[in-house]
Amino acid sequence: MSEASSVSRKIVVIGAGVVGASTALALQDDGHNVVLIDREAPCSGASFGNAGAIVNGSCVPTAMPGILFDVIRMIAQPLPPLSIRINYFHKILPWLIRFVLQSRSSAVHANATHLHALTKLAAVSWRRLSNDTKLADLLQPGGWLKVYESEKTFSATGKARKLMDQTGTKYQLLNGAEIHDLEPNLAPIFKYGIFQQDSLRITNPQRLVQGMVDLLVSRGGKYKQFAVEAILTENEKISLTGPQGVLTTEKVVIATGAWSRSLAKQLGDRIPLDTERGYHLMLPESTRSLLNRPVVNGESSFVLSPMETGLRISGQVEFAGLDGKPDYRRVRSLLPAAKRMLPKLTSQEESVWMGFRPSLPDSLPVLGYSTRTNNVLYAFGHQHLGMTLGAITGLIISDLVSGRKPAVDLAPYRADRF
Ligand SMILES: Cc1cc2nc3c(=O)[nH]c(=O)nc-3n(C[C@H](O)[C@H](O)[C@H](O)COP(=O)(O)OP(=O)(O)OC[C@H]3O[C@@H](n4cnc5c(N)ncnc54)[C@H](O)[C@@H]3O)c2cc1C
Repeated sequence: MSEASSVSRKIVVIGAGVVGASTALALQDDGHNVVLIDREAPCSGASFGNAGAIVNGSCVPTAMPGILFDVIRMIAQPLPPLSIRINYFHKILPWLIRFVLQSRSSAVHANATHLHALTKLAAVSWRRLSNDTKLADLLQPGGWLKVYESEKTFSATGKARKLMDQTGTKYQLLNGAEIHDLEPNLAPIFKYGIFQQDSLRITNPQRLVQGMVDLLVSRGGKYKQFAVEAILTENEKISLTGPQGVLTTEKVVIATGAWSRSLAKQLGDRIPLDTERGYHLMLPESTRSLLNRPVVNGESSFVLSPMETGLRISGQVEFAGLDGKPDYRRVRSLLPAAKRMLPKLTSQEESVWMGFRPSLPDSLPVLGYSTRTNNVLYAFGHQHLGMTLGAITGLIISDLVSGRKPAVDLAPYRADRF
């Protein structure tokens, strides 16, 4: 148990994705009695299928100046990288209005600063946590590479690069030959590259999260399959109710990703959380050695990641809520561009997947106490960067619970900031 943490508390963490598992381990490390619960097996949500990139220092929010025109232009294309399902439009509209308001220059600058404050601690926090998990082999160095064919698309990254300069995010600009040196199997069509060398990658997010859960249990913590339907706070006790019965505890951390809005609402917090759905397509294991790191195709907005089990094509942003059926045409439509990018890629799909990124309009997570009680903490809304931010989120929440000052000022991530 660390010095500041003299009191061992019973804490339930709801949600066994990367954020919940990291938080549970960090709390246990502080000497607390931790029960991690999930309605499904660990890592069944967005954490299962992401691109595995730990983008250290990432600072570019999704709502950038001009986003409204970008969205209008994109949704007019067949199978665009961003889409809004027609029957979800009325539901997402309030979120979209807030999102567009976040694209004003002043908001963009603030959001970039607050995102960077967290992401600059990503790699160091993961190293600390993965040493503990003995799963360090799943965390590989190698950086994060974005590649562009045309000068026009590369020039369009100018605003993002300016934000990177302003926040002090480290990156290098690469030419075609330098891209080839890093990734010899890429077709020689990419003339411009942006390389963030100190980023990491996770070669199997599911194995990492399951490993964290196993470690928690081997050290005396508990994992329970439990679906929380109702959450009630009374004096110093919290009751969680679901089909499996009632769980009582002293403190709760809500880390239920895209499903967190309804739990927070029961506690009186109306948080504009929605989901940017994303997809992946897996290629056979033999393809994994074609790349050395995740590579973003800046022309078609998708990522090709070398995973333990094969190359993964991931991307797309789809606003269709938590209940709409997946539309796998979205990710299948990326396969021709992936093959153009990697001429040696001749394989066909092994599997497809859809997951729910938990997103707020300002691209910042909600971190800290609920507005009504200090017995409930929030750790959700990590949008495109939950894998990056899992470890630092766990450390921040454990600092709060144990009465230490977190490494980052948490005011920008408050639940009531909207
Ligand atoms: C295609 C794609 C690519 C991505 N690539 C990257 C990347 O390269 N790098 C990066 O940093 N991020 C990436 N992300 C984002 C990242 O995956 C998410 O931000 C992250 O996984 C969110 O983690 P989480 O633990 O908050 O949520 P989740 O992983 O969704 O976990 C939430 C858990 O809560 C459980 N749950 C929900 N409600 C309840 C309830 N009522 N009771 C009990 N349990 C409940 C669910 O079953 C689930 O297991 C990507 C996302 C997608 C979709």
